[in-house]
Formats: sequence, C-alpha cells, structure tokens
Amino acid sequence: MTRIVMFVLAAVGWLHAQPVTPKLDQNLHSTLWMQTSAEYAAITTQTYRAAGLALAAALADPNWTAAYEQTNDFRTLPPAVILDLDETVLDNSPAQARLIQSGKVYTEEGFIAWVKESRAGAVPGAVEFLHAAHLKGVALYFISNRVCNPADAEDATVAVLKKLRIPFADDRLLCKTAGSNKTDRRKAVAERHRILLLIGDDFNDFTAVPDVVEERAKLQEFYGPMWGTKWFVLPNPVYGSWERAIGTDPAKKLRALRP
Ligand SMILES: [Mg+2]
Repeated sequence: MTRIVMFVLAAVGWLHAQPVTPKLDQNLHSTLWMQTSAEYAAITTQTYRAAGLALAAALADPNWTAAYEQTNDFRTLPPAVILDLDETVLDNSPAQARLIQSGKVYTEEGFIAWVKESRAGAVPGAVEFLHAAHLKGVALYFISNRVCNPADAEDATVAVLKKLRIPFADDRLLCKTAGSNKTDRRKAVAERHRILLLIGDDFNDFTAVPDVVEERAKLQEFYGPMWGTKWFVLPNPVYGSWERAIGTDPAKKLRALRP
C-alpha cells in the first residue's frame, strides 16, 4: 500500500515537473512564415517590383485607371497610387508574435496600444517602390482602417511613416471613417487623380466584397484581368476578410477545410 502511495506521489511530482505545452495558437505557423521564411520577403519584393514595372506602363497610358470608382474624365488628372498600410506597407507581425507568446488574443484596444508604440517595420520592397513612384511625381495615398489623425504631428501612424522614411503628405493619409469600407475614400481620391494602381493585402483594398467564401471566389475570378496588372496583392495568412468569411471559431475553420 505504502509503495502504491509513493508511486502515485512520484507520478504526480513528475507530472508537475514537466514543462507546460502552450495551447497551439492558430496564428503560430502563419506568423512564423511571415517573420522567418525567405519566401515571404521574396514574394513581397516580387510584388512591389512587378508593381514598379506596371507603374511605368500606367503613366504612359492616359486611358489607364485601376479604380472602378473612377467614373469621371480622368485623362488629364495627376497620377496617384493607392495603398493600404497594415501588412501592405507596414509589418505588424511583432504584435502578433507577442500575442502568441503571451497566450492572448487580438483585440482592437491591444492593436491600438501597439500602433501607439510606432514600432511597425516596413514590408520588404515597399519603401523602394514608394520612393521610385514619388520620384516619378506620383501622388501616394494611404487608405487605412487604422484610427489615426494625419493632421496631428504626434500621431503614431504619422510618426511610423516618417520613421520609415515613407513619402507622406497629411492630406494623403485617409484613416478609418465611420465604417471600414474603403469605396468612398477611393472615390474621393479618384475625383482629383487618375489612379494608376491599387496595392493591398485584402480584397477590400481593391473593391468591396461580401464576407462569403463562394462569393469571394467568384469575384476573384471576375476581376482576374486586374491581378498583377493594375491590382497588386501582398500575402497575409494571419488575418483579413478571408478569415471573417469562414469565421474565427476553430470548429468553423475545421469545417471549411476541403479534404
Ligand atoms: Mg492591410
């Protein structure tokens, strides 16, 4: 009997001594891919380089526009490129890495606290593209769903753009409005500029799409001629409207798999 009790006590002690295996975070793999794979940086560099080549063709063709919101006579308007910020120009993967390490989940408040640190890096290839476009006299507009205030010199998003030496004008940073839909903001830019290219990591950076997997797939095919010619998309396996379309619940994600 004593032996059994001793064995049980030893077993309990052994169990306590084992390192705790953290619950596997859904974003561990995708965040590691963005932070450590050479392939991620190669893809973003490739995307921006291809965008640079398209820019030259777009500038030379006055009938070229990349925005469906552009319905005016745009041929003599000054040229512009519209870019998203997060995971298009700015790399927020350290914020995701912290969440995974601390076992926390994404919250809007947590993201705002990260933004206030002004510690985001640049997506590989972005800064070079932006400088080349700026030198060609192209207006660079950033349409972001960040809560920011471009008129405030102390604003954290303004500060990070300046820190990364990204060409910036306060009337060309269009922050989050009442909703997250970017159509109206694209339309506002299209009234004053000929939009040469759209660059983003989310389908909604190009046109408003519903959060439905099948609808998104159909629209992706419908807009087929735009990809890599006038629309340039950066990879984001961590988050985006694609995830909203399947739902963030792990059970729903498992059901969305196609074995
Ligand atoms: Mg984004």
